[in-house]
Amino acid sequence: KRIITTENLEEDIKIESSLRPQRLEEYIGQEKAKETLAIYIKAAKERKEALDHVLFYGPPGLGKTTLAGIIANEMGVNLKVTSGPAIEKPGEIAAILNNLQEKDVLFVDEIHRLNRQVEEVLYPAMEDYAIDIMIGKGAAARSIRLDLPKFTLVGATTRAGMLTAPLRDRFGVIHRLEFYTEKELATIIIRSAALLGVEIEPEGAVELARRSRGTPRLANRLLKRVRDFAQVKYDGVITEEVTNLALDLLDVDKYGLDTIDRNILKTMIEKFQGGPVGLDTLAAAISEDAGTLEDVYEPYLLKNGFIQRTPRGRIVTDFAYTHLGLST
Ligand code: ADP
Repeated sequence: KRIITTENLEEDIKIESSLRPQRLEEYIGQEKAKETLAIYIKAAKERKEALDHVLFYGPPGLGKTTLAGIIANEMGVNLKVTSGPAIEKPGEIAAILNNLQEKDVLFVDEIHRLNRQVEEVLYPAMEDYAIDIMIGKGAAARSIRLDLPKFTLVGATTRAGMLTAPLRDRFGVIHRLEFYTEKELATIIIRSAALLGVEIEPEGAVELARRSRGTPRLANRLLKRVRDFAQVKYDGVITEEVTNLALDLLDVDKYGLDTIDRNILKTMIEKFQGGPVGLDTLAAAISEDAGTLEDVYEPYLLKNGFIQRTPRGRIVTDFAYTHLGLST
């Protein structure tokens, strides 16, 4: 499995929960989201109401789940975590909602993957804190309304565009999470190192940040890997040197690209003369799912100017040619 995947890996679960910030003030970066959330949380608490429903969207590993937990902590309520694909039947979502307590936060990851019937239960639940249940059959069938505790739905998705309009419209607050700057990531890495009890030099943190694709999940994972190298070869201190050595061995280059990213760029250059090439065609050429290509690989390549989107398809930039040591 690719080391720089931004998806949640089995090996991350334990470390992630120990490194997860619990309070808004511990959460580094995403200033805009943090500032507005702080105000909404304060206002809701003063009014003694549940916080409005919140939607976070953006690439994996940027801190959506973390923010849901922080919201629950700051509101002083329970957090219930589930995901779109995990809820199969309307009855299941009804049971989850019915078991919440007043003002609780329900976090639904991958909310764009909820099926239609389940989603329809959410409409009145989000809007009126109620669900409609059908009782009886045939001519005798009637629907009764069941009141729910006033709760906060926090939804997360990699793509806001995949949400249906009626669902999207029911969120009062919508935030797009951005890739982190190198400086923010270095701060996160230094914080994580302290929590893990590892000594790290500032230059080591900066180098690690540079290669972490703007993504805290990845920064934490790479930190853990580099720590092993540091322990075995460098008395346990994470220096710039050991970071370079470890990440070169792991095939993560100076810009955080790995063999798969470089393969995407090389395929575009060698098979499609640098593009334009359509998403589906490119996905087929690298034997990858088009959705994964678009959600997981592309955002970072786009953001850092390795590729561009044009109306006719994706093209490789001059910068990518230079980075790969190829001529245009
Ligand atoms: P997502 O839900 O967007 O996939 P997570 O919330 O699971 O991402 O974040 C992945 C990991 O990255 C978390 O365990 C946490 O340790 C770390 N992390 C994310 N955002 C921040 C942040 N702003 N400050 C510090 N650590 C963060």
